[in-house]
Amino acid sequence: MADIETRPELMEKIVALAKRRGFLYPGSEIYGGVGSTYDYGPLGALLKMNVKQAWWKSVVERRDDVVGIDSAIIMHPKTWEASGHLQGFTDPLVDCKGCRKRFRADHLLEGESAGMPGLKERPKDIKEVRCPECGGELTDVRQFNLMFKTFMGPVEDEAAATYLRPETAQGIFVNFANVLQTSRLRVPFGIAQMGKSFRNEITPGNFIFRTREFEQMEMEYFVKPGTDEEWFEFWKGFMMDWFVSLGVKEENLRFQEHDKEELSHYSKRTVDLEYRFPWGWAELWGCANRTDFDLKQHAALSGKDLSYRDPVTGESYVPYVVEPALGTDRAVLTFLLDAYEEIEGGRTTTTESVKEVETVLRLHPALAPVKAAILPLSKKEPLAALAREIRDSLAGRHSVQYDDTGSIGRRYRRQDEIGTPYCITVDFDTPQDRKVTVRDRDTMEQERVPIDDLGPMLAEKVGI
Ligand SMILES: [Zn+2]
Repeated sequence: MADIETRPELMEKIVALAKRRGFLYPGSEIYGGVGSTYDYGPLGALLKMNVKQAWWKSVVERRDDVVGIDSAIIMHPKTWEASGHLQGFTDPLVDCKGCRKRFRADHLLEGESAGMPGLKERPKDIKEVRCPECGGELTDVRQFNLMFKTFMGPVEDEAAATYLRPETAQGIFVNFANVLQTSRLRVPFGIAQMGKSFRNEITPGNFIFRTREFEQMEMEYFVKPGTDEEWFEFWKGFMMDWFVSLGVKEENLRFQEHDKEELSHYSKRTVDLEYRFPWGWAELWGCANRTDFDLKQHAALSGKDLSYRDPVTGESYVPYVVEPALGTDRAVLTFLLDAYEEIEGGRTTTTESVKEVETVLRLHPALAPVKAAILPLSKKEPLAALAREIRDSLAGRHSVQYDDTGSIGRRYRRQDEIGTPYCITVDFDTPQDRKVTVRDRDTMEQERVPIDDLGPMLAEKVGI
């Protein structure tokens, strides 16, 4: 059963597909790559944009109690003093005296590091652990701050030291009073934002699961103290529903409660929505009850009043905060993994089809990078001009692809592999009846549709 729990071959296939079809490339690849960075290619950029849009629509657009902001990546250094990151955002680091590789001591103790699979009993002390790579002796544990340090302006001295934000949340907290003043929101309400964050991870890995530069989609939901536990349950449920509504299989999702000793310094309670990744269960979306920690800290260090006065009851208090925080790249990886399916011997039954393994990426139509492919059966006129006309009428409203190369079976398989939900075939009857054949990726059913109905049909099928 262990092989079902850990599916390394699935990860290899996703990485290969991502590279081959232009979802993700190793960053700075022509220079040999750099520190586990990845670049989103043409299809990956579309997929990521769709994931972000889906999140923004559900968390911000559809709700009248949440607004969105887009704050700066470089913030006043005091921010990180207030948030506790300057002091406490560290990982325990050990080096191997033999091969010089670096590891996180906590990961070695959890036995989660590569090279230590199947470790039956967890070691209690890092002194019991040897290097998983070479078996060498490890150094003592040192605390390593994960923030990327840089300098503002031309002088590289400590007074000019700033940091790339390690989370988007603080940009929300420092704007709490601004948003309150410029909107008509009343507690409970939320402020959301998506954007890049940076953590100088000791051991990035597992493709885009843990990278040093990554994107977050975070929302801080401000509530009256005492109602925080209720709202926590609400947002916890929301997280699961969101992934399921976008097609992720429920059996691959679970909640994991943090133990008291695992809790971050600001948190009263944290629950992770975990996904069954190829290497095991791991955090996908964390929900934290950050209490009034951040607002109180920023009030203390800035000297500004960050309390809330209820305009109706006149009551004044510092709100508690419930934070659902999702990593965009992790979400992208989850959708790719969950949608991936191989069909032995193929499922195309046309005589021209080669009996080989067929790959279908069963992405939710709203997330699919390409919504429809326009496939003329002939490169010649009048089919080519008609197919171009269809492409032009759909482009701008939908992401579409034009493909007239190779047999129709091959073209279907190319689209299946990148998750295109609909293939529109322009055939020899089209010039007469102005109808096309629309093939459904999942059912492979084909339907004759008038050209004029394509736009409204796609709008209905690929929306969320
Ligand atoms: Zn070593």
